Amino acid sequence: MRRFVHESLPARVVFGAGALAELPAEVERLDLRRALTLATPQQQESAERTAALLGPRSAGVFTGAEMHTPTNVTDRAMQVVRERGVDGLVAVGGGSTTGLAKAIALRTDLPQVVAPTTYAGSEMTPILGETKDGVKTTIRDRKVLPEVVIYDVDLTLTLPSALSATSGLNAIAHAMEALYARDGDPIVSLMAEEGVRAFALALPRIAIDALDREARSDALYGAWLCGSCLGAVGMALHHKLCHVLGGSFDLPHAETHAVILPHAAAYNAPAAPEAMARLAGALDVADAPRGLWELAKRIGAPLSLSQLGMKREDIGRAVDLALLNPYWNPRPIEREGVAHLIEAAWSGSPP
Ligand code: NAD
Repeated sequence: MRRFVHESLPARVVFGAGALAELPAEVERLDLRRALTLATPQQQESAERTAALLGPRSAGVFTGAEMHTPTNVTDRAMQVVRERGVDGLVAVGGGSTTGLAKAIALRTDLPQVVAPTTYAGSEMTPILGETKDGVKTTIRDRKVLPEVVIYDVDLTLTLPSALSATSGLNAIAHAMEALYARDGDPIVSLMAEEGVRAFALALPRIAIDALDREARSDALYGAWLCGSCLGAVGMALHHKLCHVLGGSFDLPHAETHAVILPHAAAYNAPAAPEAMARLAGALDVADAPRGLWELAKRIGAPLSLSQLGMKREDIGRAVDLALLNPYWNPRPIEREGVAHLIEAAWSGSPP
């Protein structure tokens, strides 16, 4: 018989094409008078347009967000927060920008309104990864969970095809690991299946036409669900490996997730048959690991770590690092199996 504990995280979600138009009302609802809009340097224009929507409630923009939330960037943003008397944050961007908003919220408890422009899912989690002196540490704290998330489909239309594919696979990885999570539950599994189903239908259409708004809408819906899974339950081998590989070999975040996903699925498949059956059903394929690899290939995602710049001679060190700190996984972490996984991911062969 099943036993589980389910805890819902508080979240207000505003979803739809053009939903960013609701930003002034949401900011007013939170009674913010000096909201600072955050973005990466690449999304400066988008930040300016967003800040303009706020009129007199805007405290301007800070567009220094970077991947992996370096604390020196947060320090600079904190200075702006203090100088301008900021009382709330608006983040427009992917996981890097959301990360900066969360890092400021951790230090100040300022309310956050996040408008995601990728499928990474950080906006639905109480998790923050910060990097100081090249070392990334991850914390879980309710303080960093955004108060409002505005999913505006139109903001994702500019997401380049390559990043759409890898970001979508990054999201599917959250759902896969939620399906076999030790602390999983039936509601989380439903969200995971539905999230994967939405992406499996949307990503091939986006690969053909990046401006397909229906497909973009399905993908963003999937991102919400998969992000919710990441926020709700613990992750395992796949996320651990991506964290280690990204940090140690300076590999790009979403691309690394995309490459590792089918191989992590294959590693865990014998120990998680029910999760794999549900994943295969959501993907509409016979075999989940192979289906994930085929999906990645079909949407033009990178298939190998060598493509991402990792050297063959680094495989041994990657295996050592993956085995360094013990953590829960449905299949015990075994050197031989992990070595096989990383070798297959390095060469890009199907699982
Ligand atoms: P990102 O935020 O780094 O964005 C990648 C690049 O794409 C940036 O240059 C960005 O400006 C640009 N971009 C984003 N959306 C765009 C759009 N719609 N149009 C044009 N350009 C766009 O990438 P990401 O994969 O979303 O985030 C990765 C970071 O998020 C990593 O640091 C990762 O650790 C973190 N993350 C954290 C969590 C969490 O729960 N804490 C979850 C997922 C990811």
